[in-house]
Amino acid sequence: MCMDVAVAGVGVAGAFTLRSLSSNLEVVGIDKRERLGYPVECGEIIPTKKEIKVLLPELDDYSLFDIPKRFESNHTKYFEFTLPDGRQFNVDFEMHVVNRDEMIHSIAQESGHELILNTRVADFRDGELILSNEDALRPRVIAACDGANSKIAKKLGVWNYTLVSAKQYFMEGVECEEDTIYMYVGNKIAPGGYAWIIPKGDGYANVGIGFVRELARPGDNIHKALDRFVKEYPHSVRFLK
Ligand SMILES: Cc1cc2nc3c(=O)[nH]c(=O)nc-3n(C[C@H](O)[C@H](O)[C@H](O)COP(=O)(O)OP(=O)(O)OC[C@H]3O[C@@H](n4cnc5c(N)ncnc54)[C@H](O)[C@@H]3O)c2cc1C
Repeated sequence: MCMDVAVAGVGVAGAFTLRSLSSNLEVVGIDKRERLGYPVECGEIIPTKKEIKVLLPELDDYSLFDIPKRFESNHTKYFEFTLPDGRQFNVDFEMHVVNRDEMIHSIAQESGHELILNTRVADFRDGELILSNEDALRPRVIAACDGANSKIAKKLGVWNYTLVSAKQYFMEGVECEEDTIYMYVGNKIAPGGYAWIIPKGDGYANVGIGFVRELARPGDNIHKALDRFVKEYPHSVRFLK
């Protein structure tokens, strides 16, 4: 099947790519998920436009950071960083906490382009995308938005990353300040990474951890590390009963 653009993978990059492509083009978005953006594999925080202007002063266009209010679950004003010895640093920095699955789904749907869901890109060869339903697409342009483990990037020989393990719980009954994002650093809790409590409002929070496995103690893994953070780490358990 010929077309102008195939967007392979409709996560956050794919959804915004679909949105930016003209309705005059013949475009298709393909994703292996049945429900776009779900399950959420993200802390769901995005800096506000005000903060992005400080972080990236050279950008020509900041409109990407106009996050519609309808996707916002919470709006935080501060970060609190905690070291293993309990010392804390507070930083004023505003973030949107979004409902990322809703955002991805809505932006992709509202682009008006065709979506093929529940379908994997099984292979990429000779300019063709081979799908798990055995269709073959031959687009003029492929936008490889298939994430950190991109099959297409691997096929093209441009995949060259160090991956960090991460895991997150969505928790209820979290008793922290809802205008603050809590970050925990140091080898004791997250060697080479950090752990987080990100309030989503009404006592809900994304609670997660990412670390570099090679730096962790022998036998440790990300599941054990997150459970320690939730059940034992004194600086976080005070919020997580
Ligand atoms: C635990 C965790 C917390 C994070 N927290 C934050 C945060 O708070 N804020 C932030 O900005 N970033 C955060 N990130 C990083 C952020 O999630 C990524 O940078 C972002 O998801 C990358 O977007 P993407 O569209 O490139 O890939 P993804 O969001 O991974 O999307 C890739 C899409 O491609 C699809 N796909 C993959 N392979 C195939 C295939 N073969 N065929 C068809 N479809 C395929 C997937 O189903 C998925 O929908 C976090 C990441 C993790 C793991």
